[in-house]
Amino acid sequence: MPTNHHSDSTGSAAFLRETLEARRKAGLARRLRDLKGAPGPRVTLDGLEVLLLCSNNYLGIAGDEAVKQAARRALETFGCGATGSRLISGNLEPYEQLERELAEFKGTEAALVFTSGYQTNVGTVSALVGKADAIFSDALNHASLIDGARLSGAEINIYSHCDAADLERLLASRVTARRKLILTESVFSMDGDLAPLQDVAFLARKYGAILMVDEAHATGIFGPTGAGLIEALGLREQVDVQMGTFSKALGSLGGYVAGSRDLIDYLMQHARSFIFTTGLPPAVVAASTAALRIVRQEPERRQALWRNLRQLRSGLEKLGFEMAPERSQILPLRLGESRITMAACRLLLKNGVFAQGIRPPTVPPGTARLRLAPMATHTAADIEQALAAFEKLGAALLSRRLKSARPRHAAAESGAAAELLGIRGGWESRRDG
Ligand code: PMP
Repeated sequence: MPTNHHSDSTGSAAFLRETLEARRKAGLARRLRDLKGAPGPRVTLDGLEVLLLCSNNYLGIAGDEAVKQAARRALETFGCGATGSRLISGNLEPYEQLERELAEFKGTEAALVFTSGYQTNVGTVSALVGKADAIFSDALNHASLIDGARLSGAEINIYSHCDAADLERLLASRVTARRKLILTESVFSMDGDLAPLQDVAFLARKYGAILMVDEAHATGIFGPTGAGLIEALGLREQVDVQMGTFSKALGSLGGYVAGSRDLIDYLMQHARSFIFTTGLPPAVVAASTAALRIVRQEPERRQALWRNLRQLRSGLEKLGFEMAPERSQILPLRLGESRITMAACRLLLKNGVFAQGIRPPTVPPGTARLRLAPMATHTAADIEQALAAFEKLGAALLSRRLKSARPRHAAAESGAAAELLGIRGGWESRRDG
């Protein structure tokens, strides 16, 4: 019988529109912003020249001349695309070079490069465990780790964020699982806090679990050579699977796993997101290799980043914003409710600063925030400019008296804040569900 595949107002089109409308009403709709210019500390966003304060290009490497030069050379030599899966027709020399240097950097026998960090986590987790196994995952892990866990079919046990005691409780209750896999980020992407890696590593050994650590936001930032928090804490021997990306401090694209030769050989055979996808363009791979050398050879970039972070943090504290203790390069400024957060983002934009608002489902309901991340390439004057914009935000949030940016306090004490930010009505009633 013929069927009508075209949607009409009662079919899928209505479902799409209704869902989008509900998102918009909840203040959760996302949109793409028009970005122009090189990836530097200043960019043009929706036609405005703004200071970029929310980039993962922490060290300013994405626009670096040496990196661009390396990419250009590879482009001339190898062309645009890898033209196939690395296992079939695409394993070019730049991959081998990058994997050699990466393994040396991470202090492991071998490394394997994937096409993105997302694919690395999805493919690695689902290759390492299956139905008879148990995963132990931090409550705030990145979506790519969660998706890999779901795809694996293993039983998923979620422990409270950064809570080693809760992890142990769960490990002790699942001793009969065939294989156990612990998943955690080292620097959490939206909170900037650090996993208790020593305790987690101890528990992994005690309960015979495989330990996989996502160093997406730690690579290039932590450790004497910038290899990550695992290096900084001297835990290389205890972490079985060191995962990371080239897409943050290294300013490029791609993900990787570093570990034993057996682990890498196993993933090459079993990680479907490695096998069934085209390899990265060689120019991107060459850019990552050049970026890796910069991280190793220019520790002054890390020093500049920490300098800028301290200036920004102490300036925000002086303005009355309540900040979490110094932990990493990511400074979350929690505003709680999505509409307030997006209004704050707009106010900052009007004052020349781009600090993206982060809302559910990226972060838990009620914890929307501005995720601030200065760069090594900002100047002291740039940070001062940013602080002048935050002073205006502080005044708008709390018209009478500067104080915490935390939502409950602000909501209780400043009805005027919502109006100043251009929002009508109270904000408690609009809290994220
Ligand atoms: N892990 C973490 C912790 C991340 O923050 C991200 C990116 N947001 C990824 C993995 C995925 O990396 P990519 O962007 O390279 O796919």
